Amino acid sequence: MSAKSRTPLVAGNWKMNGSKAFIRGLLDDVQSELQPLALERCSVLVFPSYAYLYAVADQLRGSSIGVGAQDVDERPEGAVTGGVSAGMVRDLGCGFAIVGHSERRTLFGESDSTVAEKYDRCCEQNLTTIVCVGETLEEREAGQTLEVVHRQLKAVTDRVGVDFAGSMVAYEPVWAIGTGRSATPDQAEEVQASLRACLAEVDAGLAEATSILYGGSVTAENAQSLFEMNNIDGALVGGASLKADNFAKICEVAERVKR
Ligand code: PEP
Repeated sequence: MSAKSRTPLVAGNWKMNGSKAFIRGLLDDVQSELQPLALERCSVLVFPSYAYLYAVADQLRGSSIGVGAQDVDERPEGAVTGGVSAGMVRDLGCGFAIVGHSERRTLFGESDSTVAEKYDRCCEQNLTTIVCVGETLEEREAGQTLEVVHRQLKAVTDRVGVDFAGSMVAYEPVWAIGTGRSATPDQAEEVQASLRACLAEVDAGLAEATSILYGGSVTAENAQSLFEMNNIDGALVGGASLKADNFAKICEVAERVKR
């Protein structure tokens, strides 16, 4: 398997944005922007807030756009006020989940082992999972980038080994998220190649088959130079996913460049 045989993927992380009306309009616009593109290679996912997950999953039933949760609780069920389980996400008709986003790690103090537990809950519910990893600016400047992202990824892969197959990794440098300062293609490629090497320590076939996304200030303008890199299989997009035309353009670039 080569880079060309991994399915390119563009995922929109809508975070805690929008209202009922905004989300309905955004989804309508994303659907109508994507329709004429007739994407054949590029998969597209959206990750709305829990509050709108059911409505979005309902609207997307039968569509080729997948929908998922931005997080799941690490416990399967029970007395967890405010918690949402992987089983609930599955029950709503979603097939995907993100775990380990840097905002969860920073704002909610989620450790590597919590992220690994969340990953396990997703697997139990057959949710295809995107595991996010990424270093802070301080860690990058201290030369710790690879050590940090390997540690974050291994927290999951050391537990599950080759059963990681089918999951995805998103490399999201914390300093690039929401800042307008994307990693350069070379910076992202260096880290993503080393994440793939880390997966190869588990299994060579797993490493070749696993999609590794880049996230951090991806726009319609910088998508092409990022997607031209061998180890960048797609993008996890925050801010630019809230504008349907920008998001669709990023999908169109992935479809074209990743042929
Ligand atoms: C994100 O939060 O996953 C993200 C990549 O955000 P942005 O594209 O806004 O940097």
